Amino acid sequence: MEKFIELPLDLAQKCVKCGLCKSVCPTYPYVQEEAGFARGRLALAEMVVKGELPLSEEVARQWDQCAMCRRCEWICPNNVEYKEIMVKARDMQRESLGQGVVKSLGLKSLELMQSGFGRKAIKLAGKLLSPLPSEIKTPFPTGAVKFMPKPTARAFGLRGKVFEAQEEKGKLLFFTGCMIDAFYGKTGENVIKLMNRAGYTVVVPEDIKCCGAPHYYSGNLQAFERLRDHNLKEMGKYDFDAVVVACPTCGGALQEDY
Ligand code: SF4
Ligand code: SF4
Repeated sequence: MEKFIELPLDLAQKCVKCGLCKSVCPTYPYVQEEAGFARGRLALAEMVVKGELPLSEEVARQWDQCAMCRRCEWICPNNVEYKEIMVKARDMQRESLGQGVVKSLGLKSLELMQSGFGRKAIKLAGKLLSPLPSEIKTPFPTGAVKFMPKPTARAFGLRGKVFEAQEEKGKLLFFTGCMIDAFYGKTGENVIKLMNRAGYTVVVPEDIKCCGAPHYYSGNLQAFERLRDHNLKEMGKYDFDAVVVACPTCGGALQEDY
């Protein structure tokens, strides 16, 4: 199991400053300055680690503006591992400057929403919100307004069950993460039906928690390790041939970070 280490300077120094990443970065057109894309953000990390620049609110602001889409990694001719560097830079930033109440609460609630209390609260919210439409217009602290799914009273109803295929070709473990069976129950049910029809029995573990990707990408590495270790232990209780996900974020985390 990987242990997190300090920001790897050698990885940041692989950047040859060619600037190709500027052409694909979605934040650069809005920021229009050197620190508005990967090359500049990496240079800041290098300067902070070398002690040439203090880790100030301004540096943190530049790192926070990165959407972590990783398009820069795909185009980089020198295979700079931007994600590896930036999650550690953000961990360093959180340790030095904190991360604000809203983000802390959001991440903590993702970590706790599958606890006994969290499940009861989500089911109750599902009952209370049942007269409302299935998606609710929600303002975000960033100023964006998104249509978010609401929880349903049937949340977590798939957990701890085995859905058997008629002529079984194999067995899949359905990694439901934090959102699928709490907020996107219909999607979860459809994944199971589809897999059953394709000949796969689907096992839904009782106690899978958030995959931890939001914690990882925001530099909360200890919280990520807690969630990852919990999920690996829970998955280890079941017999399966492969894992199926309905959330691309969970899929990415399981493939790359577990
Ligand atoms: S594309 Fe890669 S090597 Fe070129 S500036 Fe960006 S991060 Fe550095
Ligand atoms: S991860 Fe995305 S937003 Fe961040 S520097 Fe790379 S291309 Fe830009």
